[in-house]
Amino acid sequence: MSSSDSLIAIIEDEAPIRRFLRASLTVEGFRVAEAATAKDGLRLITQERPALVLLDLGLPDADGLRIIEEVRQWSATPIIILSARGEEQSKVEALDAGADDYLTKPFGVGELLARIRVALRHALHIGNEDRETTTFRFGPVRGDLAERRVFVNEKEVKLTKLEFDLLATLVRNPGKVLTHRYLLKEVWGPYAVEEPHYVRVFMANLRKKLERNPSRPEYLLTEQGVGYRMRGE
Ligand code: CA
Repeated sequence: MSSSDSLIAIIEDEAPIRRFLRASLTVEGFRVAEAATAKDGLRLITQERPALVLLDLGLPDADGLRIIEEVRQWSATPIIILSARGEEQSKVEALDAGADDYLTKPFGVGELLARIRVALRHALHIGNEDRETTTFRFGPVRGDLAERRVFVNEKEVKLTKLEFDLLATLVRNPGKVLTHRYLLKEVWGPYAVEEPHYVRVFMANLRKKLERNPSRPEYLLTEQGVGYRMRGE
């Protein structure tokens, strides 16, 4: 599948933002379809089966969150939320409900296209799980998920089981924002989801062991108020 002719659904009630998105995406060769309400948006996703959805959370007839919950019952199509500044809580709820990423308004074309590429690549990857390799590499770090070994500048670094599990969850999702809740569930299990400080402590340890400058991480990035993101290429 080439991403250039992929159909992208834009569900957004503000006409200027829809125009900006349409112009930015068609220039890149994407096809676009638009809806201004949750009702029309849901119909659009159901009928057109877009490769990706750009979804505003504040729609006039319903919360965009409802669309995510509805669509996730039958489709894994990537959903990128368009949220206003200060909507941290609804952003986190949307990600936990199954959205793939978010853009905070106002955002630029470069950021928009980068997020779309990551989400489309990730969707393609999920469809080809059998071709997944177990090795990974970023900056001076390389490792093998199956052997559970990590090297920095070719020198082996010892990680605890939980540190390794946290790193593995991040490297399996390059470029994708992962909420505190998601990481807690994946690494610590379902009973830990109210303990976000676990993630903070272990992330600090991982950065100390893997990042050149742990206080200015280049790869294990913080998404303020939301979670973490492994830098994509
Ligand atoms: Ca809106």
